[in-house]
Amino acid sequence: MSDRPLTHPGASGPGSAWAAAARLDAADPLAGRRRAFVLDDDTVYLDGNSLGALPAAVPGRLAEVIGREWGELRIRSWTESGWWTAPQRIGDRIAPLIGAAPGQVVVGDSTSVNVFKALVGAVRLAEADDTRGTASRGTVRDQILMDAGTFPTDGYIAESAARMTGRTLVPVPAGDLPSLAGPRTAAVLVNHVDYRTGELHGLAAVTAAAHAAGAPVVADLCHSAGALPVNVDALGVDFAVGCTYKYLNGGPGAPAYLYIRAEHQARFDSPLPGWNGHREPFAMTPDYRPAEGAVRGRVGTPDILSMLALEAALEVWDGVDIAEVRAKSLALTDYFLARVAALAPPGSLVPLTPAEHARRGSQISLRCDGTAAVMAELVRRGVVGDFREPDVLRFGFTPLYTGFTDTERAARTLAAVLREGTR
Ligand SMILES: *Cc1c(COP(=O)(O)O)cnc(C)c1O
Repeated sequence: MSDRPLTHPGASGPGSAWAAAARLDAADPLAGRRRAFVLDDDTVYLDGNSLGALPAAVPGRLAEVIGREWGELRIRSWTESGWWTAPQRIGDRIAPLIGAAPGQVVVGDSTSVNVFKALVGAVRLAEADDTRGTASRGTVRDQILMDAGTFPTDGYIAESAARMTGRTLVPVPAGDLPSLAGPRTAAVLVNHVDYRTGELHGLAAVTAAAHAAGAPVVADLCHSAGALPVNVDALGVDFAVGCTYKYLNGGPGAPAYLYIRAEHQARFDSPLPGWNGHREPFAMTPDYRPAEGAVRGRVGTPDILSMLALEAALEVWDGVDIAEVRAKSLALTDYFLARVAALAPPGSLVPLTPAEHARRGSQISLRCDGTAAVMAELVRRGVVGDFREPDVLRFGFTPLYTGFTDTERAARTLAAVLREGTR
């Protein structure tokens, strides 16, 4: 991956810019993946970082689940259709997308709920380590560090988790997490990519520093999994959470996932020990005995319809090389940045997303006046992104179904809206 921005086409007239974009599409090894999605050619969909497009395999699979598995087999489907084991089975399908070996990911609940499980579990782990005498003597791990730019729900949940575990939540700029992790740190919660700015945070540096301080890391992968290589196993990340309805295209409200690193599973003490995480759920014993493995991260009965829709949605990743996804994501975002800079009225847009590849996720955030009206007009003209208050336009680039001509059209439409003004 080079850090050199693509030189933008279009220097010799509008026709050649379209032609250059079409050539990039023709040379794109992922271009054919678009056919695996339900999309219309009238719309450029740049909101897959909020709700991924519908994979074409999902409607048929859901019809079968409802008609046959629920409608005819009814209760037999918990075993005969594999419903009961779906959370761990689908977790194993997500695992390669985040660089995890099998047996460490379970699907279920929302990201919010999984942040709670993971963070309290991480603090309890640090506490257990200290009790075993592995911490430096005389210090108290009384703080949970978190990146201050966090998606709000992570911050709300972390504040409650801190209060429940007798810690103080300390929000700091993401870039300061490595230098601030220390003997007082009980756990670190970090968003891998900032949902607002699209900035990619250095998960390797955060994890290394937290571990040097004896503290576990919880990574929120909502805006990175499915868009770029994550490598939780290789980085040593302790716990990870993420949603499946953004880059993983699982559908509205699709269940989230929880990664529990293999070496921590035997000591993972879930703050939500539901019966689905019990060693023998159908023994119906009054005492809780946690299951082996990541299964102890489960809580209650899984939402089977959403879960099986997600399972079908994940088929679009079969045979996809995530390094190729990343290369295309960077090429698309480079292209968009260059074309917007060339076409938009000077000074009308200020990129918030870092130009540096090593610090960029898969979305471009642009500061702009009149954001809500600008986005409404863009949507009216068939270019769908979104905005975050007070003044940030967001454009998510999903390499499996977005191309360079789409990106050319988005840049031109945005420039036109800014030139012409909104009503
Ligand atoms: C989208 C997102 C969430 C969403 O949480 P839910 O519980 O699914 O509503 C949480 N955290 C981050 C970082 C997100 O981007």
